[in-house]
Amino acid sequence: MNPTELILKKRSGGKLSRGELQFFVNGYLDGGIPGYQMSAFLMAVYFQKMDFDETTALMEVMMNSGAVVDLSSVPGIKVDKHSTGGVGDKVSLILAPMVAACGVPVPMISGRGLGHTGGTLDKLESIPGFRTDLSLAQFKDLVARIGVAMIGQTREIAPADKKMYALRDVTGTVECIPLIASSIMSKKLAEGIDALVLDIKTGRGAFMQSENEAIELGKTLIAVGENFGKKTLGLLTDMSQPLGFAIGNWLEVVECIECLQGHDVPDLMEVTYALGGAMLLLGGKAKSIEDGIKQCREAILTGKALKRFAEMVARQGGDISFIENPSSYPRSTHAAEIKSPTTGYVANIDSLEIGFINIMLGAGRTQVDDIIDPKAGTVLKKKVGDYVDEGEILAILQTEKKETLESVKPRMERAFVVTSKRPSSPILIRALIDKHGVHPWLR
Ligand code: URA
Repeated sequence: MNPTELILKKRSGGKLSRGELQFFVNGYLDGGIPGYQMSAFLMAVYFQKMDFDETTALMEVMMNSGAVVDLSSVPGIKVDKHSTGGVGDKVSLILAPMVAACGVPVPMISGRGLGHTGGTLDKLESIPGFRTDLSLAQFKDLVARIGVAMIGQTREIAPADKKMYALRDVTGTVECIPLIASSIMSKKLAEGIDALVLDIKTGRGAFMQSENEAIELGKTLIAVGENFGKKTLGLLTDMSQPLGFAIGNWLEVVECIECLQGHDVPDLMEVTYALGGAMLLLGGKAKSIEDGIKQCREAILTGKALKRFAEMVARQGGDISFIENPSSYPRSTHAAEIKSPTTGYVANIDSLEIGFINIMLGAGRTQVDDIIDPKAGTVLKKKVGDYVDEGEILAILQTEKKETLESVKPRMERAFVVTSKRPSSPILIRALIDKHGVHPWLR
């Protein structure tokens, strides 16, 4: 087969066979097909899409590019969560240890920053020493011992997603249902789970901005999961403004530590508890999502979730002293305050813009090999609906890049809209989606 012919076939709207997809993906993995051809292929898929069968075939080829983990020796129903991507979305760091502390094993394979969004791996790796590249044997051992492990795609597990993901991050090929679905499900179905909960983001900072597109993505992900015999459900959640207050890798870890200590960040914890409740239901530990939410709250209140997080960090090589004393972490050299130009209510915070600004500050990549600055980022001081006085601080930016800081300040100022009329708060959890369809979330 000729890679160029396959690119042309996809570019003109053709449907690639499983064999053709296998040739292309495996060729890229073994180095026979270069990055520029894979980039062209991804862009062709972006514009021409794939139907469900072709998406499933791509997902399977990517899943089988490495091992499919067998966790049958670990007792219990193994459940994971995956988000379709958002700004300030740090849920996994609280959720995984919290659910594990409630007795449901969580084998989690996550990704790095993607497009304008942050990634769980980059956040975890901001903890000095933390290793997300455990071997397959170490991953299994950790899930068996403490009920939770958080790693990335490796040479052994989902290597095709590891390489294609990094390329999509910097080639404008992220916002595409077949590519997102094959990326997410190839690693989730390789990690040894029995069930999966999806956080399907919608709004300006999500890859699927409109609710209809997000629902279409959610239904595709759920259908793939169910076809592979995994109970799969999703929550449709708001990403019109960043989740929580911190955006940027270490800043987000600190916010998670505070939440694990019992501090309430309302939007972040509402989503985390809802996803946790759903995971406990699928994991057979709760009678209902509400019952699961109650158990998750207990795990936070009693400190069990924090203890499990600390144990995971220590076992994955992380320096626990920074978890015990986050203020000992180095600080950014430069900071800038973004102040409100007027008195009123915060009516909008443009999460997409904030995601891109954070990349410029050093918190994300513009090229595959870029090194991230773990300290860089933004701390919001106000959220949508909050009252502000003229001159009051809306956000603080942190970076090592002094010149960039000056240049992004006006852009950040424009990302906030302050109006005299109090806006209605965004609905945080909009629906529950399962294999039967979309259901209202009435809690
Ligand atoms: N998360 C993933 O793992 N992959 C995507 O493409 C989007 C979100």
